[in-house]
Amino acid sequence: MQIVSSVAAMQRLAKKWQRAGTRIGFVPTMGYLHAGHLSLVRRARRATGKNGKVVVSIYVNPTQFAPTEDLSKYPRDLKRDLKLLRELNVDVVFTPSDAEMYPLKNFSTYVVEEKLSQTMEGASRPTHFRGVTTVVAKLFNIVLPDVAVFGQKDFQQATVIKRMVADLNFPVKIIIAPILRERDGLAMSSRNKYLIGNLRPQATVLWRVIQKAQAAVKKNKNVPAAKLKADLKKLIESEPDTRLDYIGFFDPEALLPVSKITRGTQMALAVFVGKTRLIDNARL
Ligand code: AMP
Repeated sequence: MQIVSSVAAMQRLAKKWQRAGTRIGFVPTMGYLHAGHLSLVRRARRATGKNGKVVVSIYVNPTQFAPTEDLSKYPRDLKRDLKLLRELNVDVVFTPSDAEMYPLKNFSTYVVEEKLSQTMEGASRPTHFRGVTTVVAKLFNIVLPDVAVFGQKDFQQATVIKRMVADLNFPVKIIIAPILRERDGLAMSSRNKYLIGNLRPQATVLWRVIQKAQAAVKKNKNVPAAKLKADLKKLIESEPDTRLDYIGFFDPEALLPVSKITRGTQMALAVFVGKTRLIDNARL
């Protein structure tokens, strides 16, 4: 497994593979890997085949964090990450520094998606998606992938990236892989590390809320969103250390809020458990 930290070296390698007709599969991550990330890597390997190359990037991208957010506290363990990726026969791990990705004084171009990134996470974190689309566009230009795998865990992110790829004609196929969960339903996340002591059981409230919404839609084909939202909010507030950021029901393509919930409605929520902000989502 090769570890590459310079943009120029990664591009040289990718171009060499391209000239040889080798398929390149790519999984962008912020590191502190868990089984969810690893399932994406396996998916990328399956998509590129035995003779293809799989590249995983580990980069905590500062432009997608607001100044008030947890950039400096984001968990990191490169040594452990590299061990896990070596076990999966990843070909290259791309780990650039901030100076390599955003050369000081010489960075002034951003990629902005203007519709799908307005609701849900975008409403709560207004500068987030500009950072995401910009860094993913840069990574695509550096890694030159044929296929890139993203997780359904960040459903809106995957939708925004798909739109960016279509709008800007990136020659990349986007695959969206399912959410991996702990046995008790908590979606795997690097930030779960911060759920210590009695916060950990409280964190399952996101999954309990999703299950409650699933049951409501099963029972009744047309559920008023406002009523269900109020019920679910109560459930979240029944835990002592949780604070609801948002919970909403959306059209799965336009990502605009709906007032009636039916089969196929997209649900998304963000909840603070202690100081840790967790997100989850489901297609009802
Ligand atoms: P992150 O390191 O949080 O930026 O995540 C990197 C990629 O892994 C993103 O495409 C995420 O959607 C995906 N991912 C994160 N958590 C999970 C999970 N529990 N199951 C599947 N994919 C995930």
